[in-house]
Amino acid sequence: MAQEIWFSPLALAVLGLCVGSFLNVVAHRLPVMLEREWWLDVADNQLGDAEAWRRVSGQKGAPPPAFAQSAQAIAKSLEALPALSLARPRSRCPHCGHVLRWHENLPLLGWLRLKGRCAACGGAISKRYPIVELITGLLFAACGWKFGAQPQTLVWCAAVALMVAMALIDLDTTYLPDDLTLPLIGLGLLGAGMGWTGTTLESAAWGAFAGYGALWLLAYSYKKLRGVEGMGEGDFKLLAGLGALLGWQLLPSIVLLASAVGAVVGLALIAFGGHKREVPIPFGPYLVGGGLAAMFFGQALTQLWFPGL
Ligand SMILES: [Zn+2]
Repeated sequence: MAQEIWFSPLALAVLGLCVGSFLNVVAHRLPVMLEREWWLDVADNQLGDAEAWRRVSGQKGAPPPAFAQSAQAIAKSLEALPALSLARPRSRCPHCGHVLRWHENLPLLGWLRLKGRCAACGGAISKRYPIVELITGLLFAACGWKFGAQPQTLVWCAAVALMVAMALIDLDTTYLPDDLTLPLIGLGLLGAGMGWTGTTLESAAWGAFAGYGALWLLAYSYKKLRGVEGMGEGDFKLLAGLGALLGWQLLPSIVLLASAVGAVVGLALIAFGGHKREVPIPFGPYLVGGGLAAMFFGQALTQLWFPGL
C-alpha cells in the first residue's frame, strides 16, 4: 500500500516538478560548463601539442611561441572565473543578481506567486522555466499511469528527465552532449538487463546498435547526395539510447514520428519564421518527441509495422 502512494501519478507529478526545476539549471549551465572544459582542454593540451601542430601545419618543429602565451592567458582567465557547477552558485535573477529565496525558487508555484517577475527588480522571468517544470511533472505522472505505481517506473522517469534536458540543450545550442546521450544508452541497457523496463536485453542491444547505425547511414547518404551535414553524432547516440530503452522494434515508429513532426515544424519555420533553409534545425527535440510518443503509445504503433511481434 505504502509503495502505491509513493509511486502514484500524483507523487510522481510532484517529483517531476522538482526534477523539471533542476533540468532548467542543467539546460542553462551544462553547455557553459562543457564549453569551459573545451577551452581549458585547448589551453592545457591542444596549443602545446607539437605532434598536433605538425599534423595541422605540415611544418616540423614546436608550435609558435605565441601559442604557449595564449594558452597561459586562456588558462589564467578561466581560473579567474567564478566556479560554476550544477549545484553552485544558487539561482539568481539574470537582471539584478537577486539570489532567489527558497519560496521564490519553488517549482511552478514560485513563478506563479511572483507572476513571472523578479521580487527585487520586477524584471521578467522567462515562461520557459515553469513550462519545463509543468511538462516534466506531467510526463512523470504519465509514467506512473503507464508503467504502474512501482519503483521500476523511476527508470522511465529518469529517461524522461534525460530526454527533456537533451531537447532543451539541443534547441539552445544544436548540440547533444555525451554527458546526456551516453547515460540514456546505459540506462536502457541496464534497465533491460535488470528486467526493469520490460525490454529484453537482446532487443535493447540491437536497438542501440541499429538506432546509431540507421541515423549514421541516413546522415552519410544525405551528405553524399547534398554535400552538407544533416545530422550530428549526438543525434545517432540519442536514437541509440531510445533504441536501448524501447527495443529495436520501436525504432521505425520513433524515426517516422520525429520526421513527420520535424518536417511540419521545419516547413512552417521556413514559410513563416524566415528561417534560412541552410541553417540546421536541431533534430534532437523531434527525436525526443518521437521517443516519448513511442514510449507511451509504442506497442500499438509496432503492431502496424511488425504485426505479430
Ligand atoms: Zn531581479
